[in-house]
Amino acid sequence: MYCIRIPLRVLFLFVFALASAQQSPPNIILMIGDGTGLSQITAGMYDNGNTSNYEEFPTIGLQKTHSDNALVTDSAASGTAMACGVKTLNGVVGIDANNMAQPSILERCDEAGYTTGLIATSSIVHATPASFYAKVISRKQYQDIALQLSESQVDYFIGGGKKHFTKRKDDRNLIDEMTDWTIVSSLRKFNNADSPRIGLFTHDDEPAPIAQGRKPKLNEAVDSMLDKLTTSERPFFLMVEGSQIDWGGHANDLDYVLTEFADFNKAIGRAIAFVKENPNTLLVVTADHETGGLGLSGGNIKTFTPRGGFVTLGHTASMVPVFAMGKGAASFAGIYENTAIFDKMLAVLQQEENSDN
Ligand code: MG
Ligand code: ZN
Repeated sequence: MYCIRIPLRVLFLFVFALASAQQSPPNIILMIGDGTGLSQITAGMYDNGNTSNYEEFPTIGLQKTHSDNALVTDSAASGTAMACGVKTLNGVVGIDANNMAQPSILERCDEAGYTTGLIATSSIVHATPASFYAKVISRKQYQDIALQLSESQVDYFIGGGKKHFTKRKDDRNLIDEMTDWTIVSSLRKFNNADSPRIGLFTHDDEPAPIAQGRKPKLNEAVDSMLDKLTTSERPFFLMVEGSQIDWGGHANDLDYVLTEFADFNKAIGRAIAFVKENPNTLLVVTADHETGGLGLSGGNIKTFTPRGGFVTLGHTASMVPVFAMGKGAASFAGIYENTAIFDKMLAVLQQEENSDN
């Protein structure tokens, strides 16, 4: 009997070790370039000397961005689709077309024991980041969204919009009420804060364009955020938004698009370096929709300077590309609805077999 028991025990330990290695849940980083369609990426790539960090990704897909009630989505409906996995009406955050509030991937990750973080180069209560923690009928309910962030499961955030927490119709000062958090006003203070929950307000209102000296740069914010998210042994979910590529599109201002793209592209580079050091991480880079109907009609081949024109001051219905690398990345190939971004991230979170890469 003795000669059988030892191999069985060794076998058991081996299987147990294998199982627990497989059960270590992956980090998830979702980066959204608001309004960043294929023309924005192409223009940004040429403007960067015919190269971009997007070229590092082994898996590329396309997502359909239409909302429940319009071929041309807004950032609330498309943010909700990716964050919560449901189509909804334009302008609605975190609530589906049947008026049911839906849990977001950030909230699902939190339930699974993850640490969570959000970064935006807009205010942190803007539609895209709000889709990950808020449930409101209108994206313009900034004070309600701020209240919901103060009561959310978000552990770390970096973004503008402090005034929605401090200058309120209900006379509450949410920052005073956020006793679990350390709220700071510079990246240096964010780095130095020793708290399990930290919020950095980069601006009182909407942050300035990067061309006008916005601080911090997005890659620096991502760097500091990754430092905080990896202080615990727990896996993390992080959403990073390059918010103002969209605003350049709305302004039909190609220089605005290019400078914001360059800021976002550098941040992608920082995230890629993290995935290379931490292979149990899924990195997805995409957009919520295209903005402006940008067409590249010419330019200078010697300097790779693109020239372009826009067909609208609003968004367009073009599909937008999805780039993935790391754990579960292969499932992001193909053409699918924007709601599938949520489904695929959830499958990676739950480590379903078909999501294994
Ligand atoms: Mg946005
Ligand atoms: Zn927009």
